[in-house]
Amino acid sequence: MTTSTRVIDTDVAIVGGGIMGASAALALRRKGVSVVLLERDLCGSRSSGVNYGGVRRQGRPVSQLPLAQRAHQVWANLPALIGTDGEYQRSGHFKIGRSEADMASLEKYAEVSRDFDLGIQLISGATLRERCPWLGGRAMGGSLCPDDGQANPRLVSPAFALAARRAGAQILERTPMTSVEHDGKLFTVRSGTAVTVRAPVLINCAGAWAGALAAQFGEAVPIHSGHPAMAVTEPLPFFMHWSLGVEGGGIYCRQVARGNLVLGGGAGVALDADRARSERSAIATLAVQAVELLPQLKNAHFIRTWSGTEGYLPDRQPVLGKSHTTPGLIHGFGFAGAGFQIGPGVGEVLAELALDGRSTTPIAAFAIERFLPTTVAEVASTAAAH
Ligand SMILES: Cc1cc2nc3c(=O)[nH]c(=O)nc-3n(C[C@H](O)[C@H](O)[C@H](O)COP(=O)(O)OP(=O)(O)OC[C@H]3O[C@@H](n4cnc5c(N)ncnc54)[C@H](O)[C@@H]3O)c2cc1C
Repeated sequence: MTTSTRVIDTDVAIVGGGIMGASAALALRRKGVSVVLLERDLCGSRSSGVNYGGVRRQGRPVSQLPLAQRAHQVWANLPALIGTDGEYQRSGHFKIGRSEADMASLEKYAEVSRDFDLGIQLISGATLRERCPWLGGRAMGGSLCPDDGQANPRLVSPAFALAARRAGAQILERTPMTSVEHDGKLFTVRSGTAVTVRAPVLINCAGAWAGALAAQFGEAVPIHSGHPAMAVTEPLPFFMHWSLGVEGGGIYCRQVARGNLVLGGGAGVALDADRARSERSAIATLAVQAVELLPQLKNAHFIRTWSGTEGYLPDRQPVLGKSHTTPGLIHGFGFAGAGFQIGPGVGEVLAELALDGRSTTPIAAFAIERFLPTTVAEVASTAAAH
């Protein structure tokens, strides 16, 4: 039996069907552009579908806030856009301070983010105890961002890919990109001998695995994988509306409408390049921290633990923007444990870059150039400019 390769010509090819790639595919179809997305497994099966579900702007570097604000608008229209509310709620995100220094740091963040109108309220003392009697004694106060919230990543992320498909994108699942070439005009992306996609624009949304594609085009970046540890309890009587974080990092948790508490904190372990799981000692630490934060979890059982694989760059900022070396190549990866909320905004930005070559949202802080060796020509031109 002979098998023939399926050859597809398209305007834009995307590698990776996480929330970045899928929301880019949807945004491109809404602009009438033809799109083919290759996902080696199932869309939303990696970081985008296994994360904690925090939909949080508070605490992001100020450089990410324009993107986060753009995404915030998309989240508001989720059912109309992707056909499900994804259990998205603007339940509030409360960041807890456990010392004077923490409270000073939260105040400072409220100040530096003031131009973005996040509506941050600092709460402490009697008001804190009145509003959240369930908080353990170590919390001195905290910072509430009332319109931040939470969602179910297992529903939201695949729904972006389904919506893109309904809008006319060709979403090819179980189709790994095995090679890519560029002839100066067109990219030829192959999945073994099964599929060949040709496009003038290629978007690299391969998550923690995006570094290899970038390196192939002379843009090796110091990306490494991280594996946040996650756990969920049995359903408990509902008591907590807010999603909680802690200033300085550590534990975070939220309670879903069914009563289960989803918790994260500490690091899991990699089983191999593709798979990770929560580690026993991280879960033991999480359990202790959880009871300290929320004493009524004292007798709660974890019913499941898990982790995921996520790409981190040294400054914990993503790479988002056009390639420095290759016309038509666009990168969107390295979202460092915080890409779920901004994903739908990133998708719109990637679509703008593909169509117009620039974005209406500031993304200069995320340029890949910050990791590339400075060339002799650039040094000369910088010297001449001074
Ligand atoms: C446990 C955990 C908790 C997190 N919690 C939060 C949170 O609460 N809030 C928040 O905002 N963010 C959170 N994040 C981060 C967030 O999930 C990610 O930043 C975001 O999902 C990244 O999306 P992505 O599309 O870039 O990557 P991914 O979802 O990993 O998608 C990349 C896709 O590319 C595919 N791929 C890779 N190589 C190839 C290839 N050669 N061919 C075809 N396909 C390929 C992969 O299969 C994968 O599906 C968390 C992450 C983890 C792991």
